[in-house]
Amino acid sequence: MDLDSLVHYAKEFLRLNSANPPGCEEESVLFLESFLKKEGIESEIFSPAPKRANLYARIEGKRSDMPLVLLSHLDTVPAKPEEWDVDPFGGEIKDGFLYGRGAIDMKVQALCQLFAFLEIRKERFIPEKDIIFLATCDEETGGKLGVKFMLEKKEILSEADFVLSEGGFIIEDGGQIHAQISVTEKKVSQFFIKAKGKGGHGSTPHKDNPNEKVIEAAQRIISYKWPIKLYPVAIKYIDGVMKGKRIENFEYIDLKSALKKKSFLSFVDDSPHINALLRNTVTCTILKGGEKINVIPVEAEAYFDARILPQERQNKFYSKIRRIAGKKVEVIPIGESSERAYYSNYRTRYFEAIANGIRELFGPIPVLPYMTTGATDLRYFRSLGIPAYGFFPIVLTKDEIMRMHGVNERISIENIKRGYEGMKNILRALLSFK
Ligand SMILES: [Zn+2]
Repeated sequence: MDLDSLVHYAKEFLRLNSANPPGCEEESVLFLESFLKKEGIESEIFSPAPKRANLYARIEGKRSDMPLVLLSHLDTVPAKPEEWDVDPFGGEIKDGFLYGRGAIDMKVQALCQLFAFLEIRKERFIPEKDIIFLATCDEETGGKLGVKFMLEKKEILSEADFVLSEGGFIIEDGGQIHAQISVTEKKVSQFFIKAKGKGGHGSTPHKDNPNEKVIEAAQRIISYKWPIKLYPVAIKYIDGVMKGKRIENFEYIDLKSALKKKSFLSFVDDSPHINALLRNTVTCTILKGGEKINVIPVEAEAYFDARILPQERQNKFYSKIRRIAGKKVEVIPIGESSERAYYSNYRTRYFEAIANGIRELFGPIPVLPYMTTGATDLRYFRSLGIPAYGFFPIVLTKDEIMRMHGVNERISIENIKRGYEGMKNILRALLSFK
């Protein structure tokens, strides 16, 4: 496929609003299905709820067990148009970038996976194994209607030999690039705190104001400094990125010795990304309390998105949070918090194949195993012991990554090309395995 058509389809795709909640991935599924139909590839649509849908297609290889799975999710987080410089669902191109919710998380990746999948079919070689293209709904709210649902509908998925999805990119930092292939992720521990109190008139303050209880507890929670704890993948990654770099007065050799230096500790504090790889993080994201300026409410809440290191225990985390929060608020966990950490070994031929595919396009750059600080659907496959990696071969700066789930999410036209070419390379390498 030529770049112009690819960009055109990417534009069209980002115009289909699949923000979750509420989801509405059906239109996006039908859009992708139309390309499969054109190529005469059979596919199946599985709809777990009205307007929600999952797309499943398969190319037959020489053997039908242990397929390779290209996994993507078609839902996105919501976007508020008034906060953006362009319409998040307008598919606008400006200064060499395609803007839109889902540009990097992960609708364009889904499209590149699909087109790479179709291209392989056109090349008419029979792969050693079946390849399954699976584009799901519901990832952004936990994946129950998406991957979890599909694992029940299609048993073959749980026999996969390898799964490739999201979670890692090629990162440009200070003029150097390195690739991160995600093999594990932090655990989600989201919760809210709630206080009750006596309402009243704003002109006569009293000591039983729920807003004040929540503010005080929230202040303690956000100012607590979680200790640094080392996880092997994080060590390997940070060492790979930092080796030889100068930080103030010293040269980085390895993490363990760097952590003994004060200047490195303040570097960690000022580097949100490295910081999140080394400790639990707790971010206050929603505040609720009161609706009228002269009324003391009877209830207030603050919501926290916490991500804990793979080796941390959920119950220990929550007892710590309860101690910090104090007795005036209730701490209420949200959703299922998984106790187990899921990890895919990175010393595999799959890792090597992807690394070789990257180096063919980018030269001898470091290719490092990585721990995604957010959560992805890959955990469902990792929990079954299936090697499952997250990687999309596009080059992003830290600023570009911050736009994921943020405002003005975008992907450069050059990256759309890299994503597609890179995906074809990687797929060809993976498909040569018996
Ligand atoms: Zn995603």
